[in-house]
Amino acid sequence: MFKARPHKNPPDSAACLNEERFRSMIENSNDIIGVITPDGQLRFVSPSVTAILGFSPDELIDKPFAELIHTDEQNIALKALADLQEHGQARYEFRMRHKNGAYRDIEIKGRNLIHDAVIKGIVLNGRDVTERKQAENRLRLTAKVFENTQEGICITNSIGDIIEVNDAFSRISGYSHAELLGKNPRILQSGHQNAAFYKSMWQSIGSTGHWAGEVWNRNKDGEMYAEWLTISAIFNEEKQITNYVGISSDITLLKQHEKQLERIAHFDALTGIPNRTLLSDRMKQAIAQTAREQNMMAVCYLDLDGFKPINDTLGHEVGDRVLIEIAQRIQHTIRGGDTVARLGGDEFVILLLGLERGEECSLTLERLLSVIAAPIDDIAKKLELSASIGVSIYPLDDEDADTLLRHADQAMYVAKQSGKNRFHIYDPALDQRARNQQELLKSIQSGLYKQQFELYYQPKIDLHTRRLVGVEALIRWNHPEQGLLPPAKFLPPVENTDLDIAIGEWVIGSALQQLERWQKSGLEVEISINISAHHLESEHFVEKLKSQLAQHPELPSGNLQIEVLETLALDDISQVTRIIDACKKIGIHFALDDFGTGYSSLSYLSSLPIDVLKIDQSFMRNLSGSKGDHAIVRGIIALSKAFNLKTVAEGLETTVQFRTLLEMGCDIGQGYGIAHPMPAAELLAWAQQNRERLNAAELPQEKKP
Ligand code: C2E
Ligand code: MG
Ligand code: MG
Repeated sequence: MFKARPHKNPPDSAACLNEERFRSMIENSNDIIGVITPDGQLRFVSPSVTAILGFSPDELIDKPFAELIHTDEQNIALKALADLQEHGQARYEFRMRHKNGAYRDIEIKGRNLIHDAVIKGIVLNGRDVTERKQAENRLRLTAKVFENTQEGICITNSIGDIIEVNDAFSRISGYSHAELLGKNPRILQSGHQNAAFYKSMWQSIGSTGHWAGEVWNRNKDGEMYAEWLTISAIFNEEKQITNYVGISSDITLLKQHEKQLERIAHFDALTGIPNRTLLSDRMKQAIAQTAREQNMMAVCYLDLDGFKPINDTLGHEVGDRVLIEIAQRIQHTIRGGDTVARLGGDEFVILLLGLERGEECSLTLERLLSVIAAPIDDIAKKLELSASIGVSIYPLDDEDADTLLRHADQAMYVAKQSGKNRFHIYDPALDQRARNQQELLKSIQSGLYKQQFELYYQPKIDLHTRRLVGVEALIRWNHPEQGLLPPAKFLPPVENTDLDIAIGEWVIGSALQQLERWQKSGLEVEISINISAHHLESEHFVEKLKSQLAQHPELPSGNLQIEVLETLALDDISQVTRIIDACKKIGIHFALDDFGTGYSSLSYLSSLPIDVLKIDQSFMRNLSGSKGDHAIVRGIIALSKAFNLKTVAEGLETTVQFRTLLEMGCDIGQGYGIAHPMPAAELLAWAQQNRERLNAAELPQEKKP
């Protein structure tokens, strides 16, 4: 153990006291006190070594001191020893090995023991600084994190004055460290958030000690930036708030990116105006607003005329530039609260809001048409461009957004059909009529398909002999719910449609079948059928008629007559003449129906190759009374004779009419006075009765007017 310097003389009492104090100091010290030889052998070590390094002093005596030092630092230890001997004292820090293999940070101060000018040894004082070093390291790390983090950190005291910020915070806010200290973070407020926002933020911090959310602040240059901010309250042991720490990350880029995504989702990439998605949002809002303000809005569906040729001949790049230009022109023409959106291609939709009356939008529409039709010389000279616009007006058309758009689209189609470069306003009442018409046409078509149509036949007799000379086929519809319908109920809506032709062809077919049936039963009679002008003038009328006739080779030619309305035959006389001529070649006869209502001129009558004139039944009514009608009928009969035509009087009801016509020289009569139109099955019996009546020299039954 400790070998004290040998004394030449026995120690006196003061010396004993000193040594005692010295010993006790060593033994009670928390530091390790040790003595090593100049070459580094441990000669003495205090008992405190056990608490720090785990070894007992005995285990260490006479061992090289360097063995206790971390291998990485042994070179330093040797150098330290040399230093020490040279300078007399030194201070070092080493990692020293604990008996259990771990290392402790020990700060060692050394001092030479010199005796007679010779270094006899070195006294070492080792202090365990492991905890302090760890704390220091932690602090250093924290400081490093504080300084190097990308997040802005701001620490305030309990009343909110800034006491520390890091570089990132300065960078984000644009204020220097010095400018921020002592200030309240309020200096960064942008006004983007309202008082309620901050109130709820502080409420959350007050109750949970914590808040996180998105905040828009303003930097020193006045620019807004978005940050994700977390605020935490720091409490002391008495649970009082001492500080607030705000950690914020700049999310401006993120927000910009978000905005960009938003743009892509809601705006047309080419023109930058709203796309279909945004339009549908805006429309819903606009409908609500219009209802609230009790005014009107116009939904305008705009389609460019002549855009496709631009794309096709000048290329898509020019096409794109034209679309951008048009979008801008529209935007400059409408008001701030109005919307223009691109649906794709050359189709745009414009919402005009706040109209007091429906017609109010006409001015804007006229302006739109003219700005679009204005030359676009800087893109390509001589571009022919215009627009067709269809408009639906809410709440005149009280529908949802989709339907309003569809109606505007329909109206746009009408604008195109009626010559382009114009607008057309959708009329809900008209549309209702059109829809009814569509439905009617559908049910007529299905009636035809289900064989609900039937031809009734009305006899025509020779007024002189009273013999049956022919029958007129008159169409009827055996409607499953409404019963027997006359042609006036279903032919007008069919006029000029494909169904008109289909019905006409069915009439021809069934009349021919009937002719054949009657012929087989021994009834030789002429059937006249009514053919519409649209059917007569339709393509391949004559060829189709021929092929229908060809299906009945047994029929003698000359038994089919076609009645065309005088009014309709007026349309295109040369074409009608050609068709009639062609039909006559295959033995068809022609009658001009309802004559006297169409104001035909004499020259017209002379040029039409017809066989029969049918005097319109309206002249019959007053035949007994009105002098005027008398003269007209007489005139028609004379005219007919002059052109070598047969004359048929329609609507013959009374004996007076019968006699008058006979006197006037009319050949043939047809009317309720002779017989009502009847189903085919009844005609044979009627013909039989008529023959019997003739034999008995009876007059047809007289009917009182
Ligand atoms: P229309 O060709 O002038 O036929 C004569 C119309 O007068 C028939 O009416 C007939 O029932 C009616 N009528 C006959 N005698 C009298 C009479 O004494 N008094 C009165 N008040 N009326 C009489 P319906 O059958 O209702 O036909 C009306 C019109 O419909 C026809 O006039 C014809 O233009 C057209 N029509 C009839 N069937 C067809 C058809 O199969 N195809 C085409 N395209 N039109 C047809
Ligand atoms: Mg007729
Ligand atoms: Mg007629």
